[in-house]
Amino acid sequence: MSERIREFLRRRDEDGPCVVVDLDIVRDNYHAFARSLPDTSVYYAVKANPAPEILSLLESLGSCFDCASVGEIEMVLATGASADRISYGNTIKKEKDIAKAYAYGVRLFAVDCVEEVDKIARSAPGSRVFCRVLCDGIGAEWPLSRKFGCDADMAPDVLEYAHRLGLQAYGVSFHVGSQQANLEAWDLALAMAAGVFKEMALRGIDLKMVNMGGGFPTRYLKDVPGVPTYGTAIFEALCKHFGNRLPSTIIEPGRGMVGNAGMIEAEVVLISRKSADDEIRWVYLDIGKFSGLAETMDEAIRYPIRTPKDGDRTAPCVLAGPTCDSVDVMYEKTPYELPVSLSIGDKILIEACGAYTTTYSTVSFNGFAPLASHVI
Ligand SMILES: *Cc1c(COP(=O)(O)O)cnc(C)c1O
Repeated sequence: MSERIREFLRRRDEDGPCVVVDLDIVRDNYHAFARSLPDTSVYYAVKANPAPEILSLLESLGSCFDCASVGEIEMVLATGASADRISYGNTIKKEKDIAKAYAYGVRLFAVDCVEEVDKIARSAPGSRVFCRVLCDGIGAEWPLSRKFGCDADMAPDVLEYAHRLGLQAYGVSFHVGSQQANLEAWDLALAMAAGVFKEMALRGIDLKMVNMGGGFPTRYLKDVPGVPTYGTAIFEALCKHFGNRLPSTIIEPGRGMVGNAGMIEAEVVLISRKSADDEIRWVYLDIGKFSGLAETMDEAIRYPIRTPKDGDRTAPCVLAGPTCDSVDVMYEKTPYELPVSLSIGDKILIEACGAYTTTYSTVSFNGFAPLASHVI
């Protein structure tokens, strides 16, 4: 945990919740990825936290970037990074956005169907395309649905179609699901990717690249394997499935790059009970699902919480946000243990909030400001 963040928060006098991100930790995370998979290019998934200071730091460290929209592409270009360090990794793109990205110099695009290939062939001729294949996401705490990717059986047809339209059929991508604690997930996905490579070779087209996506976890309440452990497992899986003909590879860490670098400070607004003999206290914070903690949806992500009363006896609480929407409850099915001495007005720290908080905050639901963000 970052002493720099604590020091910053001690001096902060503005009201309302905020997230503070420590760039030293982001730098350490980048180096951990770069060292653990030395032959793999790191494409930071911008959506996890697009703060300009984070993008500039990663630019200076030599990172590449996975962008989901023209807006994200423009944020990356604003750091001075050249367009050849950008992958337009969203499989769902308007054709005019493809054209805009192409005009900026982007030449690497994700697809998962022939319909998207058509758009790219028209508006980004000659570009490299990689086909995303479906992964089941088992073992991920924030699994991805069937929204992105096609069955591995269909991928060769999509890529061959791209080849016939004059695009470079470049490779295969997958995402094993976010917050993926199961190291085997990459093994299964790489087996699938190798199958697509083989089929394409039979069709006379040599694919070059495997985009191994994100999914690298942040430590919340449970321990997770470190980046080097992932690096070793992934490298072994690559060798197992591709032998001595290793493709070039990409990873796209989002959460794993910034999650543990940020901390939210919030305040206890109200503590109450629903009946005189209610055993469960309701603890309402000045932050909730609509102001940065969207990933508590379905209680998927359980953040570590520090209070000034830590060490005192604890009891289960329902934890809720400040808005007038009844879904603005973070933890209820599995109540959260908090000190019985916790009081209204106490400041609490929510840890590992560097990813998927700022941009998931609403503009002004109920008149509450979006989550304030500081990068130090
Ligand atoms: C969101 C996303 C990522 C980042 O995922 P994490 O689990 O945060 O690492 C990487 N690649 C793509 C295509 C994504 O959509």
